[in-house]
Amino acid sequence: MVVAVYPGTFDPLTYGHMDIIERAAALFGKLTVGIYENPSKQPLFPLEQRVDLVKEAVGGLPSVHVKAFKGLTVDFIHRIGGRVMIRGLRANSDFEREFEMALMNRKLAPDIELLCLMTSSQYQFLSSSLIKEVAKLGGCLEGMVPDHVAVALREKFFAPIEVATGKHKM
Ligand code: ADP
Repeated sequence: MVVAVYPGTFDPLTYGHMDIIERAAALFGKLTVGIYENPSKQPLFPLEQRVDLVKEAVGGLPSVHVKAFKGLTVDFIHRIGGRVMIRGLRANSDFEREFEMALMNRKLAPDIELLCLMTSSQYQFLSSSLIKEVAKLGGCLEGMVPDHVAVALREKFFAPIEVATGKHKM
């Protein structure tokens, strides 16, 4: 059975990520979504919460597992017996970055094959960073992230204000 790994920051998970997860899961016997700590990106959500949000979203997909990791992605893939790394591609800018990383990873771990799946057109504009900006300004996230992710974003940005002003009891 070929084990594939879809690594990322998932800060937070979007329907663009979910689309890649579902399509990759249909191709491989087992898919592990690997969530890295990524302190360089200063994530909004702590690692444990990012893992929980993805776990809740993939609950109905029996061949999909979720694991947090630190360190090199290729080392993580080796540790869990993976053979294929999955990445998603949106526009040209993704390609350049993925290409650079792929060449480095090939040097580090020639046995791991990279498979890039093109975004589905309806998710082409979706990125975690844009989602966070819209959420921060109170915009509607319907059709962009699962409901429980929208709730977590709202709590992150608005719960402290609502509690402080006594606007809502949570
Ligand atoms: P990273 O910090 O590794 O880029 P992300 O969570 O931002 O982590 O993205 C993980 C992977 O998912 C990357 O390969 C990214 O290109 C891909 N991805 C993100 N958003 C989308 C989307 N809307 N459609 C397809 N792929 C996406």
